[in-house]
This record gives sequence, structure tokens and C-alpha cells, in this order.
Amino acid sequence: MQSFSVDFSYPVWFTTGLFNVENNLLKEILNGSEERRANVAFAVDDGVVLAQPNLLSDLREYFKVYDATIKLACEPLIVKGGEEVKNDLKEFEKVLTLVNEAKIDRQSYIIAIGGGAVLDMVGFASSIAHRGVRHIRIPTTVLSQNDSGVGVKNGINYFGKKNFLGAFNPPLAVLNDVNFLSTLTDRDWRSGISEAIKVALIKDKAFFDTLKADAKSLVERDSVAMKALIYRCAELHIDHIASKDPFEKGSSRPLDFGHWAAHKLEQLTDFSLKHGEAVAIGIALDVAYSYLSGMITKAEWEEILEMISAFGFELYVPELEKDHDLIAGLEEFREHLGGKLTIMLLEGIGIGKEVNEMNEATILKARDLLKEAQADRNKRKYVVK
Ligand code: NAD
Repeated sequence: MQSFSVDFSYPVWFTTGLFNVENNLLKEILNGSEERRANVAFAVDDGVVLAQPNLLSDLREYFKVYDATIKLACEPLIVKGGEEVKNDLKEFEKVLTLVNEAKIDRQSYIIAIGGGAVLDMVGFASSIAHRGVRHIRIPTTVLSQNDSGVGVKNGINYFGKKNFLGAFNPPLAVLNDVNFLSTLTDRDWRSGISEAIKVALIKDKAFFDTLKADAKSLVERDSVAMKALIYRCAELHIDHIASKDPFEKGSSRPLDFGHWAAHKLEQLTDFSLKHGEAVAIGIALDVAYSYLSGMITKAEWEEILEMISAFGFELYVPELEKDHDLIAGLEEFREHLGGKLTIMLLEGIGIGKEVNEMNEATILKARDLLKEAQADRNKRKYVVK
């Protein structure tokens, strides 16, 4: 019998002006010395490079200034931004080629800068090259700063299925710099808010109330409100990961509230629906289901729906009409987890409750409710920014 345990810990930093030469946070984390300089390769989201044209020159300048202890192994690798980077194996191979050609070893670092999709892909490549190269995440979207970037999961899509290939592998550090968010499109700015709504609904009523009160300023891109949202949401995610089942050995995955339908909808819409937008619909569907099952009141269901709409999220897409495919999403979700089907629903605002089965007819009724609710909102001329 052999037995051992491995401790994991990693810091999540909140900073501004990460590549400003006066900010030595990254240099400190890399922990190089004059005798042994830290060897670093970057993989950067092309959407960030395009939106922030000074990024690469700032990064090079940073490494020049701290040249005594840190060095660039090669020119930063630019990878596609968005879900395509998880669907296109060529992008994944580009990172492996970088590891090979720039001679990145297990004491070197790969730093990913980008949205959740780029972080997932680069984190996965880093996890398998040489059985694991140290990786650091610099998330640049709301969703990756408040949710995906602060966790331990990496992956790419395969067989047309979300995250079919992947690894649980904690990063060495996560560096959240709010300045990155200024260049997001309105769609990407809003998209990540759905993960905050998700975690508030299952864990924290006070956070739900704050989100509701701040909805207007958040939609109008108030960065102070957004910073607070990201901080609280990241905190709830980190606490949950550390205290429960970080490598998801069991069947329960509470943070995936609303995600069984969301993952299926991303696939059914050929990824034209963004992850966060699909999550908003997935949440709305499971909230409708909770209401139809008598777990929450009509008033609670209406309050939640109104709040989701206040952020400009659609509640319904025609792909929800593909009954067979939609229901298949449940089984795919179970397969991905293994074991018993375990779905998070609500028994109050801020109170999640896991169930082990869902009734198909009730799912379809919940879908019909969303269709009606969206039609009603369209009549009321909800402005989707
Ligand atoms: P994204 O990564 O798809 O990025 C959206 C778009 O924003 C891309 O076009 C990208 O190029 C661009 N972009 C990124 N940063 C920018 C910036 N600062 N300025 C301008 N443009 C910028 O979107 P996302 O919402 O960050 O991530 C979604 C992905 O995260 C999905 O693949 C989802 O499955 C994954 N995810 C992973 C986990 C996890 O635990 N690993 C959790 C939740 C979601």
C-alpha cells in the first residue's frame, strides 16, 4: 500500500498596471535570482493584443528592466482569442511547439494572458507538456477574473464536446489586473456577470441584492462596481474550491449551477452564444424548473428573472426547442462528471439544493416559461446593449 498527499496553494492577486515597471509583483512571483534567472514564455490572446497595442512592448520593457533575475525565453506567442482556441487543435499544438522549441522545462514558466478560453487551453497544454510546466494566469475578461481563471480546471473541446480533454492543475499564481477590462466589448463585459449571478444565487443572498442594486451601474460599465463584483465572486469561488472537492472526485459540482444546459446551448448554437450568455439562459432554465417543482416561490422566480434581464441577458434562444438535444445535455453532463447525475437547483435566493434527477416534461415546461418571458420582454422593448 502506498500513500502520499500533495499540498496545493496559489495566490490570487489583485493589482493594476501589471506591466508598469514600477509594479514589481510579477517579478517577485517569478522569484528568479542572478545565478538562476526565471525563464518565462508568454501565450497571449490575440483579442487582447489587438485591443491593447502597447501590451507587448510594455511586457518586453518590463523584462528588460528586471533583466537581472527574469528573462523571456522567446517572443510572446499569439494565440486566437475566444472559443475557437479550444476548438482548433492547431492552436493547442502551437503551445506545445513553443515548449519544445524554446526549451521550456518544468522549472520554467508559461504565462497565459487572455480570456477564459485562452487560459483553459494554455493551462491544459502547460499541464501535459513534460507532465506539467509551471503556469501562471493573467485573466483579461470579467468571466476569467471572477470565475474561470481563479480555479484549477483547464481544458479544450473535443468531439464537439465542451472540455472533453482537460486536467485539474492549479496555477502557480493568478494575477487580476482590472485595467485589462477597459477594452472588452459590451457583450464580453456583461457575459461574465452571469457567473456572479450564479454563485450569488446558490450561496449568498446579500451578494445577489448588491448585484441587483448595482445592475444599472454595472451595465453602464462602472469599474468600481465591477471591481467589487469580481472580488466577491472570485472569493466565493476560491473558498468553495478550497473547502469542498477541488478535483471533483465526487459527483457533485455545485458551481456548475445552470451549466448543464449552458454547455449544450453553446454547442447547439455553434458557439455563437458566449459562455456567459449561455450560462444566463441555463440559470434561468434551472430557476424556472425550481419554481415549477415548488422549490421557490413565484415571487422569487420573477425577481431572479427580472434581475437577469436587467443585465440585458436573453432568457431564451430557439435552440432550446431541440427537445431531444437539450435533454441529451443532461446525460452528457452526467457523463462528464461520472457517477450519479447531480444537478444544483434553488430552494431560495442564496440557497442551492442538489437533486439527483430532473423530470423531462418539467424541463420542457420550464423552457416554455422562458420563451413566454422573453416574448413579454421583447414587447416591453428591453434594450439589449
Ligand atoms: P473568451 O475567452 O471566449 O474571450 C472573449 C473574447 O474577448 C475573445 O474574443 C477574446 O479575444 C477577447 N478578449 C479577451 N480579453 C480582452 C480584453 N481585455 N480586451 C478586449 N478583448 C478581449 O471569453 P471568457 O468569457 O473569458 O471565457 C469563456 C471560456 O471560459 C469558455 O471556454 C468557458 O468554457 C471557460 N470557462 C472555464 C472555466 C474553468 O473552470 N476553467 C470556468 C468557466 C468558464
